[in-house]
Amino acid sequence: AMSELVVRQIPVLKDNYVYLIHEPESRATGVVDPSVAAPILEAAQKEGWRITHILNTHHHNDHTGGNNEIKAATGCIIVGPRADRDRIPGIDVEVGDGDTYEFGAEKARVFDVPGHTRGHIAYHFANSHALFCGDTLFIMGCGRVFEGTHAQMWNSLSKLKALPPETRVYCAHEYTQANARFALTVEPENRDLVARAAMIDAMREKGQSTVPGTLAEEFKTNPFLRADIPALQQAAGSPGDAVATFAS
Ligand code: ZN
Ligand code: FE
Repeated sequence: AMSELVVRQIPVLKDNYVYLIHEPESRATGVVDPSVAAPILEAAQKEGWRITHILNTHHHNDHTGGNNEIKAATGCIIVGPRADRDRIPGIDVEVGDGDTYEFGAEKARVFDVPGHTRGHIAYHFANSHALFCGDTLFIMGCGRVFEGTHAQMWNSLSKLKALPPETRVYCAHEYTQANARFALTVEPENRDLVARAAMIDAMREKGQSTVPGTLAEEFKTNPFLRADIPALQQAAGSPGDAVATFAS
């Protein structure tokens, strides 16, 4: 039987989360989206873990800025999106939609999720119920559509929406409180949302991280995953049109 990943969240820069993931059987240790190097190397050392992999979701510097320094310090392998190979510093292994990447005794299924950037990918560790989705899906929000179209982004989010509800969403930024405020303007009557927003405010008051959440919670409270719901489409003035509702 495969053992679950151990996940450590490392807050860096203003609001980024970098993840150290450790697979206990093989002792494989990965860094998801290292913005920077020093705090990550230090955190791994504290755990007694040797970094063997970097997993990048997209090319933005706040996700890859630590790549070269961590690789130089550890000799780790850098895994990243095939579609963005030229923009991922130090990339060794290129992955894309439908690929299974073996991480020690664990496996990640790769999804192409273009929209925020054209080459953005997400890693789903089904056995560990863990989704590393970078800047595509946030708690109660989603990434800004920089390089793709709204139709692409909606399609990408729809892929993530199809994963099991118990999946934990490990996104790359603490944007939850601002996202909740926006979500409440879209669905002021959504009771799950009202309750969750209050809980988030209390957590932030205490300086706690609101990440990860589960997909089950996102289905109920994230307006960007709910553009296919008739009430939201009606409110957006686009009945029957999920893409137009999402864009709105
Ligand atoms: Zn980004
Ligand atoms: Fe980012």
